[in-house]
Amino acid sequence: MYTSLEHYIDGAWVKPSGSKSQEVMNPAKNTSLGELGHVSKGDLDKALAAVDKGFKTWRKVSAFERGKILRKAAELVRARADDIARVLTLEQGKVVAEAKIEVLAAADIIDWYSGEGQRAYGRIIPARADGVRNMVILEPIGPVAGFSPWNFPVTQAVRKIAAALAAGCSIIIKCPEETPGSPIGLIRAFHDAGVPAGVINLVYGVPAEISEYLIPHPIIRKISFTGSVPVGKHLNALAASHMKRATMELGGHSPVLIFDDIDPEGVATMMGAMKFRNAGQVCVSPTRFFVHEKVYDKFVGKFADIAKNLKVGDGLDPESKMGPLANPRRVNAIEAFVADAQDKGAKVAAGGKRIGNQGNFFQPTVLTDLPENARIMNEEPFGPVAVMLRFKETDDVLTRANKLPYGLASYAFTKDAKTATKIADALESGMVTINHFGIALPETPFGGVKDSGFGHEGGIEGLQVYMQAKFVSHLG
Ligand code: NAD
Repeated sequence: MYTSLEHYIDGAWVKPSGSKSQEVMNPAKNTSLGELGHVSKGDLDKALAAVDKGFKTWRKVSAFERGKILRKAAELVRARADDIARVLTLEQGKVVAEAKIEVLAAADIIDWYSGEGQRAYGRIIPARADGVRNMVILEPIGPVAGFSPWNFPVTQAVRKIAAALAAGCSIIIKCPEETPGSPIGLIRAFHDAGVPAGVINLVYGVPAEISEYLIPHPIIRKISFTGSVPVGKHLNALAASHMKRATMELGGHSPVLIFDDIDPEGVATMMGAMKFRNAGQVCVSPTRFFVHEKVYDKFVGKFADIAKNLKVGDGLDPESKMGPLANPRRVNAIEAFVADAQDKGAKVAAGGKRIGNQGNFFQPTVLTDLPENARIMNEEPFGPVAVMLRFKETDDVLTRANKLPYGLASYAFTKDAKTATKIADALESGMVTINHFGIALPETPFGGVKDSGFGHEGGIEGLQVYMQAKFVSHLG
């Protein structure tokens, strides 16, 4: 039915020797899928020895050969996409069509890095003296400790693994305990493609215990974390105190600016699909919809209709368009956001309630008339809730959009080129996409500013974070 749950250390699938374990749950049914064992300190020591050995081996494999192995892994992921997607839906909840898109996107990410690793060019700097060559050489930074989350268990893991491996690094990755089966399927593809033992190691356990052991460890040279802002700040502080470089992909609270020169119903249809994708558990999920007062009623009316008519159900049912939330604590969190907003005067234009008493289902929800002090106006909801806000003036809406400490993705819709340029310049955001949903491709940089973190995944920037520059000056 589901899949076997093992860790992967030094090229072998192993049973962990930790004293604890946890049940993996199906979020559509609240039933157990299997038991996941936790790693012990002894297992982590084995993984550390393996990742050290793996780095020494892998950095010597030419970028060309590494590319061939990565391409093979991408082929295997594609060939196994249906199986991995099914496991992903069972453990995470998203509808199986979305799960398959995620797995195929993972194959694309591996493909892209298989090529980009071969283009990690350094440079020659003109010398002042005759006979001197000044060179900048890009080297892999070393063994990586990666921490990936449960909302996209496959693509969030592969962004770290593929980029690290393309750069010549090795990695210990702690994938999410709540959704362990699909990352196992992903890493099997790397194993079967011929990645040498020790280059990738996969562990599960108590996240804080693992990060506190791995980050300070002298073998680990680079940290990459995707998750919430508070945990990211904590892990970054730990990394900094040990002089480790870090990439932090943290939360967001994306604004969407909708001007009065566009088709409000067309944009509502596009952004409705984006809002409720993965039940809103997406760090770049559009959340604060600032709608020009002239098109507000049409936009909100259409958006609320989309929310009301979205078929919510078990992700394995092909009729379902939105699955359950990934875990019960997200349902409680969303319920609390809605209750808080209503207490403070907000109105519910669609949804607003949990569905049934089996599975972590919540209605696609649209809120209007929100006061600034509603929690959902300030904290990332990470669920299927959109808030609708009116605006009149461009300068005012830019100030409001930039008000929060988050700065991950922003969206805008306008036909006016001058307004578009002004928005692109003014938004305090790592990614701005205008008139379409154009982010998170393998070849484009993905990352935030402000509390949303730093460093990139995707694009050449996503490779560079796993490399360090060495300057060599040679006379003779
Ligand atoms: P959480 O803050 O407890 O955990 C978030 C992620 O960090 C999980 O994957 C968890 O395993 C990991 N984590 C937690 N403590 C850790 C530690 N000390 N060391 C290493 N890893 C650690 O919250 P949650 O309830 O699992 O998720 C809800 C919040 O997390 C959301 O509100 C959202 O902001 C954030 N989140 C963001 C992303 C993203 O893509 N940026 C993904 C998942 C969750």
